[in-house]
Amino acid sequence: MHILLVEDHPLVASGIQAGLALHGLGCDWAASCNAARAHLAARPYDACVLDLGLPDGDGLALLRQWRAAGQAMPVLILSARTTLEDKVAGLQTGSDDYLAKPFDLPELVARLQALLRRAGGRASDRVQCGDCEIDMHEGTVWRGGQRVELSRREWALLAALVQAQGRTLSPAQLHDSLYGLDQDVESNTVNVHVHHLRKKLGPALIETVRGQGFRLAA
Ligand code: CA
Repeated sequence: MHILLVEDHPLVASGIQAGLALHGLGCDWAASCNAARAHLAARPYDACVLDLGLPDGDGLALLRQWRAAGQAMPVLILSARTTLEDKVAGLQTGSDDYLAKPFDLPELVARLQALLRRAGGRASDRVQCGDCEIDMHEGTVWRGGQRVELSRREWALLAALVQAQGRTLSPAQLHDSLYGLDQDVESNTVNVHVHHLRKKLGPALIETVRGQGFRLAA
């Protein structure tokens, strides 16, 4: 999964990026409204963390433009503006959640995961698939009652397939979910990791859709 982080403070941004990567969430950083627009024009994102005080404009105005243009991506405002009026304005402008700075990273991650869960139509963080139980919050997988250890990249691929709810993802889309976890992602990585996931979690969990890509078995 792929998060757009709009935040002009480099230290805050790098801390958030590192925290999200630990949970298998790839993250692109935009330090201004213009950079955020350019990122969003280039690719879709699963969710956005949006600061309000940005060097070239107001995050709230940016959010208003996105919503007016039909952009439905879940947005969490992360701001030092903490009055009740600020929060109400943020939510009324179309944000899905509002977290005040200073913030704790675990809370930000948990709230983002709640947004992703709702966007993915899941009532729970726990997803049962065949004999596997996948905990999207903890980033853990159990098969037949046994915990299975996955690498970060394997987890990122599996999480993307769970979030897709049975839709087929192309190798390029899956490859994209690895972005931000490793600078040196080789083109055959997706096939290699799908192979590893099938060995660890059973051959039936991930189906190949010929000529299109992969999907999670129903
Ligand atoms: Ca700021």
